[in-house]
Amino acid sequence: MIESVQSAKSVVHNFNAGPSVLPKEVFEEASRAVINFNDTGLSILEIGHRTNLFEPVMAEARELVKELMHLDHDHEVLFLHGGATTQFMQVPMNLLNENDLASYTDTGTWAVKAIKEAKLFGHVEIAGSTRETNYTSIPKQLSVSPTAVYLHITTNETIAGTQWKNIPYDCGVPLVGDMSSDILSRVLDFNKFEIIYAGAQKNMGAAGVNLVVVNKNILGRGNKPIPTILDYRNHIKEASMLNTPPVFAVYVAMLTLRWVKKQGGVAALEKLNNAKAALFYDTLYSLPLFKGVVNKEDRSNMNATFVMSEPALEKEFLERCKEEGMIGIKGHRSVGGFRVSMYNALKLESVKALTDLMKDFANKKG
Ligand SMILES: *Cc1c(COP(=O)(O)O)cnc(C)c1O
Repeated sequence: MIESVQSAKSVVHNFNAGPSVLPKEVFEEASRAVINFNDTGLSILEIGHRTNLFEPVMAEARELVKELMHLDHDHEVLFLHGGATTQFMQVPMNLLNENDLASYTDTGTWAVKAIKEAKLFGHVEIAGSTRETNYTSIPKQLSVSPTAVYLHITTNETIAGTQWKNIPYDCGVPLVGDMSSDILSRVLDFNKFEIIYAGAQKNMGAAGVNLVVVNKNILGRGNKPIPTILDYRNHIKEASMLNTPPVFAVYVAMLTLRWVKKQGGVAALEKLNNAKAALFYDTLYSLPLFKGVVNKEDRSNMNATFVMSEPALEKEFLERCKEEGMIGIKGHRSVGGFRVSMYNALKLESVKALTDLMKDFANKKG
């Protein structure tokens, strides 16, 4: 079965933005577990979550996050339902009172969605925005009210193709980060964030589960009731097993976390990601036929956005990519052009294959 899927196309280079590429060994082990989980004769899909079969999976997943992100004692690791979109509302629901102020950075599609939800719970100020320049850069100067309950940043804007290189650790208020598209891709001082959240399907697993890292000391200052399932404190108390977690998605995340550790951890992946991004962007800027969209110093190592200086050739280029097994290169419907996503599990060889194709295409058209 698995073999026939692989031979369907000899080589596929998966540049999808999300859900996206995962390590081959994760797919293989996850597919074995669907048939026979840990030699139990049972599928991972038919075991209870409160059993000695699944509890160790959740425990290992949480431990691995702590270890790989070097988290201190105050930071709790949760695997929660829903995509990162759920966190857009769950963060303010847990932190923001009606008369409180939250500070947000306005850096693109995802930030805008987070801002919209926060406004349902309290006051929101915009600490910095690059909307005027079509979100092609990251704000360099922030103006954060000292009374703000927290500052929210989107560490990597998946659609615009920008990434915060200098995290505003010293903004003076608690920091919250949406890391959906660059989680585990680079070393940051994770303990300086009070909340980090990420939908798993971009860089650490299958869709359906969120990673939430929360400093437990910032919780509990709310003055309104929070529904049980949305209160972080309940999930902390129950070790992320308040109700039935998305068992299979947590399992796939655990396998991916094991893989990250085996690669040498986040620092080793950062090195590889830097190499992939350097190869891609160096090629892009060396070819006049292609044009990067984003401010150079703010460009994302995860999602590279670009257009062609001769738009009439865009369709032909996409066709060539398709013929050579390169998928997911078309830009997001809201911005057009192209987007190449280079998450952790994407191999350097895939970037090499794409840059070779770009050079060849540019040569033939030049
Ligand atoms: C994809 C994405 C989201 C939304 O994730 P869902 O799982 O679809 O809710 C939020 N923020 C960022 C930065 C993303 O890339």
